[in-house]
Amino acid sequence: MLLLHGHYKLFPRRVAVRAEWCTVCKAPRVAVGTRRLVVLHLFWIPVLPVARVTDWTCSSCGAPPAARLATPRSRTRGILVFAAFLGAVSVGLLVATLLTGRDPLAEGEGRMSEGFAAAATFLVMSGIFAWHALRRRRQAADPGFVEVREAVPPLSGDACPLCGDLMLTRSNPRCPRCQVDILTF
Ligand SMILES: [Zn+2]
Ligand SMILES: [Zn+2]
Repeated sequence: MLLLHGHYKLFPRRVAVRAEWCTVCKAPRVAVGTRRLVVLHLFWIPVLPVARVTDWTCSSCGAPPAARLATPRSRTRGILVFAAFLGAVSVGLLVATLLTGRDPLAEGEGRMSEGFAAAATFLVMSGIFAWHALRRRRQAADPGFVEVREAVPPLSGDACPLCGDLMLTRSNPRCPRCQVDILTF
C-alpha cells in the first residue's frame, strides 16, 4: 500500500535572538529563532503533534546560519531515514513473530526464535546506520567552523538587536515589543 506521510511545521512564532556565525554572510550576525509545532501527517491530514522545534535563521540573509557547511545535512538525512526504515521493519517482524508464533520470513515452518533473531538483526543494522549518520553529521562542520563560531561574542543584552529598544534588565533580557528572548550566552 502506498502510504503518504511526512510532517508539517505549524504555528511559527519568533521566540529568541542570539549572536551566531553565518556561513552564508561569512560574518557574525544576529540569528532569529522561530519555534514551530511539528505535526505528523498521513495523506496530508495532520494526525499527531510530536515536538516543538526552533529553527534559526540569519537576520541579514534569511538563510539558516549553517547553510553553507561543506557537507550538507540533507545527505546524512537520507541515511537516517533508511535507519528508521530498518527499525520499522524490525518492529514489524517482532510484531508478526509474536502474533503468528513463527518466523514470518521463513516459508512454512520457521521457528519463533528465528523470527526474533531476524528482528534483532534488522534492529542492529538500523542502529549501525543511525550511528554512522549521526557521526557523519557531527563531522559535517567545516574545519575551523567550530572555532570561528565560538569566537563570535554573545549579544550584550543592553538593547534589542531587532528594534534597538534599550533593555531594562540584564538578567534574561526580553524585548516586549519584538516578543523575543535575547540570548546572551
Ligand atoms: Zn547570513
Ligand atoms: Zn525588539
